[in-house]
Amino acid sequence: MSEDSHIEFLLSDALARQRAAFEADPHPSLATRRDRLDRIGRLLKDRGPEICAAVSRDFGHRSVHETTMLEIVPLMGALRHTRSHLRRWMKPERRGRSIEFLQLKNTVQYQPLGVIGVMVPWNYPIFLALGPLIDILAAGNRAIIKPSELVPQTSALLSTLIGAYFAPEEVTVIEGGVDVAAAFSAQPFDHLVFTGSTAVGRKVMAAAAANLTPVTLELGGKSPTIVAPDYSHFSAARDIVFGKLMNAGQTCIAPDYVLVEKGRLEQFVSALQAEIVRCYPSQSSAMHYTGIVGERAHRRLVDGLQECRDRGVRLVTADITLPQAGFAIAPTLVIDPPADCRLMEEEIFGPILPIIPYDTLDDAIAFIRARPRPLTLYLFTGRNETRRKVLESTISGNVTVNGTLLHVAQNDLPFGGVGPSGIGAYHGFDGFKRFSHARGIATVRIFNPARLAMPPYGRLTELLAKFMGRI
Ligand code: NAD
Repeated sequence: MSEDSHIEFLLSDALARQRAAFEADPHPSLATRRDRLDRIGRLLKDRGPEICAAVSRDFGHRSVHETTMLEIVPLMGALRHTRSHLRRWMKPERRGRSIEFLQLKNTVQYQPLGVIGVMVPWNYPIFLALGPLIDILAAGNRAIIKPSELVPQTSALLSTLIGAYFAPEEVTVIEGGVDVAAAFSAQPFDHLVFTGSTAVGRKVMAAAAANLTPVTLELGGKSPTIVAPDYSHFSAARDIVFGKLMNAGQTCIAPDYVLVEKGRLEQFVSALQAEIVRCYPSQSSAMHYTGIVGERAHRRLVDGLQECRDRGVRLVTADITLPQAGFAIAPTLVIDPPADCRLMEEEIFGPILPIIPYDTLDDAIAFIRARPRPLTLYLFTGRNETRRKVLESTISGNVTVNGTLLHVAQNDLPFGGVGPSGIGAYHGFDGFKRFSHARGIATVRIFNPARLAMPPYGRLTELLAKFMGRI
């Protein structure tokens, strides 16, 4: 058997086994769903230290605190939230009816879709595999996960752990490189969740279209940050450094660049420098600062900086002690780079922060509106009028006002992109609905009003048409 047909066999066999199991239990009970969720919780609780160690090896270095706070803790929060609300979410939803249909009862039943494919990027390899899985299992589905080839130790561990806590008919992991990923996206899943770059997202959606498989695409892009003139630049610097340097900027919702009032540019740059050194003092920075995932990603960032240097752009590099292993890059501020440099044209995905000065808030808004709709928008302002103006004149997947990253940890907010930053949102009830079929059910109670409109037509039909056709 050739390598390609072996992969094809593995994928179609896993899908066929899960689909058969799904057909045997197409509407799992609350108890079954809770049991599956509890197993994710146990997996994380029992094997947390192993997960932190594997992720750190794949990144060259990543602090245990970071993996705990950014991968394991939010999953535990999502599990608690989902577990406690699931009974209510599973209940059929009552819907309204118009006056001529008062005899009907209308409900929406949320049905499991079946087998869902989950394609995972490397940057949060546990959170972005198990996060969608929570919503998928809560909605009563089964799942096949394809982790990223760029974090091989974490992917292998995930495969072992899922195998230990789930039957392959419930959840299974299929590892492999880009060839496996491409074959995976071409499987006739009942839904496909892809988290990754916009460029690969296009290929995944094209492959899924051949099967009419619906997709949820969680993509990337350049998330802008506006510091409004009224807001303390010290306070903004503190939150921006936190959001930018977690995972060394390898976060889809990291602030990609910052727009700051021209007159406060120098003060803001100094505040950012001071904040970086406060967060990563020399005695602990090597322990707490994360490496870049691989040589290619490192080269891309170094080249982006070099291009700016060559074009005479001012770079401010923070003097922190980097981890010994892997490919770390020091936090670097890029002051007022040209719009056509690589760092301003592509998602940065590293600890590099362009600072763009603006004359008026309208200029800052126009800068964002001239670019593709981002995954996240950050705004720092204490003024309601500024908040309203920015929110009404921009479109983005999500927003955090006066902080960074916080929206992703809110279990009752939809999380997702818009346009090139993604299709569809999940988390909490929005995730439950995303991975369900909302079946609208109309039930006739005592009298069927359609009987009044049946042939032979006459005066009654005319009166009825007049009444129902009113404006
Ligand atoms: P990527 O697009 O390179 O890879 C993601 C997945 O796609 C991997 O599992 C990979 O195996 C697979 N893949 C690669 N080539 C493929 C192909 N030709 N056909 C099908 N699948 C293929 O992304 P990445 O580098 O792992 O992650 C970084 C990107 O992900 C960034 O753009 C980031 O913004 C984005 N991201 C988005 C979110 C979100 O929630 N919106 C979260 C994390 C990361």
